[in-house]
Amino acid sequence: MTKANEMTIVEAVRALRARELTVRELWDACSAAARAKNPELNAYLEIFDADDTAINSAQKRIGDGDAPLLCGIPIAIKDNILIEGKIASAASKMLANYRATYDATVIKKLKNTGTLFIGRTNMDEFAMGSSTEHSAFGPTKNSHDISRVPGGSSGGSAVAVAAHLCIAALGSDTGGSVRQPAAYTGLVGLKPTYGAVSRSGLIAMGSSLDQIGPLTKTIEDAHVLYETIRGIDILDSTTIPDGLYGVLASPKHLRVGVPWRLLENGVDADVLTTFNTTLAHLTDTGHTLVDVELPMSSHALAAYYVIMPAEVSTNLARLDGMRYGLAERGDTLLEDYIKSRTEGFGEETRRRILLGTFVLSSGYIDAYYKKADAARAVLRREYEKAFESCDVIAFPTTPSPAFKFGQKSDPLSMYLEDIFTVTANLTGMPAISVPMGMVEREGKNLPVGIHFTAPHQSENSLFAIGEAVY
Ligand code: GLN
Repeated sequence: MTKANEMTIVEAVRALRARELTVRELWDACSAAARAKNPELNAYLEIFDADDTAINSAQKRIGDGDAPLLCGIPIAIKDNILIEGKIASAASKMLANYRATYDATVIKKLKNTGTLFIGRTNMDEFAMGSSTEHSAFGPTKNSHDISRVPGGSSGGSAVAVAAHLCIAALGSDTGGSVRQPAAYTGLVGLKPTYGAVSRSGLIAMGSSLDQIGPLTKTIEDAHVLYETIRGIDILDSTTIPDGLYGVLASPKHLRVGVPWRLLENGVDADVLTTFNTTLAHLTDTGHTLVDVELPMSSHALAAYYVIMPAEVSTNLARLDGMRYGLAERGDTLLEDYIKSRTEGFGEETRRRILLGTFVLSSGYIDAYYKKADAARAVLRREYEKAFESCDVIAFPTTPSPAFKFGQKSDPLSMYLEDIFTVTANLTGMPAISVPMGMVEREGKNLPVGIHFTAPHQSENSLFAIGEAVY
């Protein structure tokens, strides 16, 4: 039998119900692996002690025969999702000692099913970054090659799953932070349709872009987690009413749109070869390829890096040393603000607050923010048009495999990481990264991912095409 901590959700569900495994054994296997490997990998900022009441009650529900699928499954939670009574630091010095006073809606839903929480995972500070190098508590290492980054910002969640330090994890995705680390660690990462999953209790980065999503070993697992956490929520007025969700069925044979022109520059040759092989496999299994043109997509990254910092600058304004979080005192109120925010925020966070304040300032809002917002509307129309001739759109999740620590110290080179992922956040469409193979760098095999985008609320098409990749 597979070691308990190496199981998928679905395997663990079967083993628990077949009495081959107890909830306690599953918890202990994950917890022992996490404690053994975390000093090297730094995937977790905190590994929680066993909650005996939760473990026993999960076991009882399974014994009684009416337990939901996730009952008794240990999962890891990104450190920007609130769990009542636990620290939620968003990997920032600013919130290093902040304890959540309530559960995020996704946590409430998981608690209702009897899911167990094994720890809070490392991330780039306030989810800004693509490598976890911006964490105030040191980077997470990629378990495929510890000299490389795991991607970000949900890098801790990704490594916790990939290194079998939990069964699955939740991350958040504002511009690719679930999908890019999934690609770099060989996992499935889903960014749901904007509004599918409640953002209540997620520490906001860019409120019009953020979605919580699963990082899992298989598509099936992503599906299970997604179905558990989605749904309308009175605490988030942007959530989509369940009645409107009308789970869209996926066609059996999907038309896969490929924007070849976007891939002409900047994608590594072996990543492109792996991508082509994967597409050939899809056509062999009955799906068809369609050429699509997405000319505006070349401007998506620029639009994202205007809209996102604008939202960051307003969302982080509340962290001023007065209400909660780090409080440094000077001689005047202004000095209090300056000291608290200078001490509390890391360099990348400060850079984005400055950038966002600039693009929203009265002299520049028309030239930058409003233009980017207009570009966003054009992008959405461009995708809607493309979806008249195809069911999903495919490209590599990232142009290259995981990079080395320090390799992208120039912020612009780091921002280019997000070139293929940000569009789904700007348009609100669901997107998934699925492992498509390995490429070799310096004698190490590194995973790469294929990325699919689907029309709003068409997650089922993503699961269907994802299954076909294997
Ligand atoms: N890497 C992107 C950024 O730095 C995406 C972050 C995210 O999705 N949270 O903004």
